Amino acid sequence: MKKHNFSAGPAILPQEVLQQAADAVRELDGIGLSLIEISHRSKEFIAIMQEAQGLVLELLGIENKGYEVLFLQGGASNQFLMVAQNLLEKKAGYLNTGTWSSNAIKEAKLYGTVYELASSKEANFNYIPKNYSIAEDLDYVHLTTNNTIFGTQLKTLPDTDIPLVADMSSDIFSHPFPYEKLALFYAGAQKNMGPAGTTLVVVKKDLLGKVSRTIPSMLNYQVHIDKESMFNTPPVFAIYTSLLNLRWIKAQGGLDQIGKLNHEKAALIYDEIDRNSCFSGFAAKEDRSIMNVTFNLNDPSKAAAFDALWAEKGISGLKGHRSVGGYRASIYNAMPIESIKVLVACMQTFEKQQ
Ligand SMILES: *Cc1c(COP(=O)(O)O)cnc(C)c1O
Repeated sequence: MKKHNFSAGPAILPQEVLQQAADAVRELDGIGLSLIEISHRSKEFIAIMQEAQGLVLELLGIENKGYEVLFLQGGASNQFLMVAQNLLEKKAGYLNTGTWSSNAIKEAKLYGTVYELASSKEANFNYIPKNYSIAEDLDYVHLTTNNTIFGTQLKTLPDTDIPLVADMSSDIFSHPFPYEKLALFYAGAQKNMGPAGTTLVVVKKDLLGKVSRTIPSMLNYQVHIDKESMFNTPPVFAIYTSLLNLRWIKAQGGLDQIGKLNHEKAALIYDEIDRNSCFSGFAAKEDRSIMNVTFNLNDPSKAAAFDALWAEKGISGLKGHRSVGGYRASIYNAMPIESIKVLVACMQTFEKQQ
């Protein structure tokens, strides 16, 4: 039996996407060859790359606005340093909302002065700081739109003319968002886009070419743009499977429909957390993520009993990250509402047993 997969990442993908990806590994569209044994310069793969790039812009509603779409490697973690190498001349501002933001800050400091605009570290990152000020002389401001580990999510962007850069690894394609206000954003594929192995980077062309350092080719956005995201061999399987998922998102009705459903799905769990006397939510209510729902048992000594209950119901991947403890239900786009109902029923059963 297929489990109810609440894994934070690599994470759930639609069943039909997995089936189509498996088929293409055997043979791509009747061409007598596997997807993973053809040249990335073949007409078949070039068509895949171009369709994927086009669909990213279409789904995000930012066509013809000067953005380039790249499918790179090295994960979101490599973007922590690429962003700084390509954009940081003197000073940048970073909002510190969790482990990933902190890692991004650490890398950026190798290239220039980094100001922490604000941080919620003192509260173990259970909220998103607001009302911080942004100096006029920053090269860019870096934000993490969804904090995968802590279960908080940015609902609005700061009002500033400084270019905004965002790590959107765990909430890209999850709901309508003012993408056009971002100068650059990136996402490791394995949370809400596809399998591990590629990182989506969307960048405004006019943002580049402003730093004085020499950038190694593999780390230079402009080099990847000039080579149409094929400067070196791209991760063909990860890109193709991401394309299948982008087609699936479009078939669901795009981000409007997906977003509506994601809000409904998240509300089901949050309502139960708030109603159920055995559990408490971790994140501040106004900052709750619709992708990663973090919660704790009010009596942690009961953990073994609750863990046995959900495991028996076929739920997988519910354990919280070690820095938060408790539970984390990651409910990305592909998570069916039925699986969420199974989790909610478990929480209700658990309460009755107590
Ligand atoms: C998972 C995650 C990362 C790290 O991604 P890698 O692809 O493993 O480098 C960075 N930022 C966020 C928000 C994440 O969720």
